[in-house]
Amino acid sequence: MDLDRKKFLKNICYVGGAGLLYLAGGAWLLKACTPMEETKPTENDKTEFKEWLPGYARLEEEGKLAERIERAYSIFEDCELCPRRCGENRARGETGFCQTTDKAVVYSRQPHFGEELPLVGTGGSGTIFFSNCNLRCVFCQNYPIAHKGRGREVSDEDIAGMMLDLQDSGCHNINLVTPTHIMPNILNATRIAYKNGLHLPLCYNTSGYERKEIIELLDGIVDIYLPDMKFMDGKQSEKYNLAEAYDYPEKAKEAILEMNRQVGVLEKDERGIARKGLMIRHLVMPNRVSSPRDFAFWVAENLPKDTYVNIMSQYRVEFEAFEYEKIARAITSEEFVEAIDWAKEAGLTNLDERSLARYEIHRDRM
Ligand code: SF4
Repeated sequence: MDLDRKKFLKNICYVGGAGLLYLAGGAWLLKACTPMEETKPTENDKTEFKEWLPGYARLEEEGKLAERIERAYSIFEDCELCPRRCGENRARGETGFCQTTDKAVVYSRQPHFGEELPLVGTGGSGTIFFSNCNLRCVFCQNYPIAHKGRGREVSDEDIAGMMLDLQDSGCHNINLVTPTHIMPNILNATRIAYKNGLHLPLCYNTSGYERKEIIELLDGIVDIYLPDMKFMDGKQSEKYNLAEAYDYPEKAKEAILEMNRQVGVLEKDERGIARKGLMIRHLVMPNRVSSPRDFAFWVAENLPKDTYVNIMSQYRVEFEAFEYEKIARAITSEEFVEAIDWAKEAGLTNLDERSLARYEIHRDRM
């Protein structure tokens, strides 16, 4: 469907009432959302566009994108988009664990400067925060959005409009936060946006609780995969997810291997901005419940050693975490430093720059 571009750009300051979430100094802050001015792509952007095409553009030009969208949408009728495999007919308004019909709910969209540096560049990462979640951890830092579903139902055309608005704001990519349960809507929105001028890489920012078969459907569409690898031990993931995702480690590993097969090691342009590849996040939790040593050695043994890995220190006691003895505190400097040391010992060579800077600070404190 071709839509008038101005129509997209009219209504886009969004979405969840309170608006803008961003990460600063490791803390999530809420801010009022303000409308953004439309900006024209620079000559540089146009040159880059000629030289490099995102995956979805190539697929559309080959006439294959529409068929993928159709296949993705058909899954809504007996939903098995994620390992929960609820089997609900979301096309008829039924909802499964993720509490979402076949319409996406969006909390906010904005240029985000707290993501990994290759995503942020100078113009920010163009994040769209989707509401609800198929995993729902007890320590979730975005629980009003992920657990409570705050936000507003939107059409695929609305999402396409947000993508174009973020592009016109100077963002370097479209960063789809919690995309798993509304993947078909995202694909359709991407096609609509492409027909109206979208040319940024798509970044699939997921909890990692994915089905390999569903990730296969995204082959050639997603440019950058940004999965979490939250737990390596099924007993821990069972304990710290509301609906006992014992199979999280197995499913996340399978999905990440498939992501790597599709996009490989992170590629950046001459400015150091990500264009394509895999970036894995691992949040260090208290008392080693996330198994950071196992994480580092699993990556080293199963993926290229120069896979981009972000070992994160910003764990906080959020939502229901205070009810769980082992995770009811912040991490110590020792816990963060040992996690980075294990990554180095495992031979990982492409660790996130800001994590390494934090490592130095924590090491000095010990
Ligand atoms: S996407 Fe939602 S409804 Fe579908 S299987 Fe997962 S949790 Fe269930």
